[in-house]
Amino acid sequence: SSDIAMYEAKKRGRNQHYFYTEELNVTVQKNIALDKAMRQALEDHEYHLYYQPKVNLLNGDIIGLEALIRWFSPTKGMIMPDQFIPLAEENGFILELGKWVLQEAFRQQKIWQQQGMDLHVSVNVATKQLLDNQFESLLEHLVKETGVDPNKIHLEITEYLFMDQNDKNLNLMKRLRSKGFSISLDDFGTGYSSLSYLKTFPISELKIDKAFVRDYNTPDGAVFLETIVKMGQTLKLQVIAEGVETEAQARYLKKIGCECYQGYLCSKPLPVKELDTFYLKHKSCMLED
Ligand code: C2E
Ligand code: MG
Ligand code: MG
Ligand code: MG
Repeated sequence: SSDIAMYEAKKRGRNQHYFYTEELNVTVQKNIALDKAMRQALEDHEYHLYYQPKVNLLNGDIIGLEALIRWFSPTKGMIMPDQFIPLAEENGFILELGKWVLQEAFRQQKIWQQQGMDLHVSVNVATKQLLDNQFESLLEHLVKETGVDPNKIHLEITEYLFMDQNDKNLNLMKRLRSKGFSISLDDFGTGYSSLSYLKTFPISELKIDKAFVRDYNTPDGAVFLETIVKMGQTLKLQVIAEGVETEAQARYLKKIGCECYQGYLCSKPLPVKELDTFYLKHKSCMLED
């Protein structure tokens, strides 16, 4: 009977293996198609940036906007970044796509600035982009080309950058900072965390990941939020909560001293025209008393 058990296990194993390679194969095929479509889409101008307000919790003022990419495929409609950014990061296309994002966001910030809409624009930057040798000269080039003031640009990076705590990354951050760019730490709390890098690196803003905001009314979630906000205050960092959907969440964040939020409660990410209309109408997202 132990032989039978062994046979069964082998068969299972083999089947699993077979199943796995089939799955893998399908994934690879899909990725090859997606890879090709993604590159073509840039040539065909199918990417657009949407913008989501960043709101001051105390007075409701809209203080800035985060640029978020959308892909409009003629056949598939709107495709969200989670569907293609990870592959773009993997296959290196993010360098090209990220360049377009920066250029487009800089250009748009300059237009708003000229229209008297004095809001900073936050741009998501993948680790691969940041670590590319050309990144600094690219930024310099785009600043010249668009005429944007780097003081109006926030670069959103993730904690992955700090897994490699070498002087090279630290010096890069310092140089970007000295050029006027602000650095925001995105999805804070989900990755590799250490108090020391928060102290060492010239970061201006912590963005609390939406998972923690969602859990604000659980004992652990509440403690976590309060701890981050306190830590941000101690380190003199701006703290902004992501994914705020309800008045109750906003009220709680305000109570514990969190200064800013982003979320559907104020607005979902909007295309430029709609954002302009929204901003003209509201200028703020006040909490009701
Ligand atoms: P992220 O940078 O953390 O952006 C916040 C995400 O939360 C956005 O998703 C936004 O639409 C969503 N969000 C905002 N408010 C709420 C809310 O109240 N509730 C919920 N449930 N979600 C909310 P989106 O636009 O799908 O982007 C997903 C991620 O894709 C971004 O996360 C960012 O990491 C990446 N991404 C987006 N655009 C770019 C880009 O231009 N370049 C790079 N490298 N990554 C990008
Ligand atoms: Mg972001
Ligand atoms: Mg991000
Ligand atoms: Mg985030």
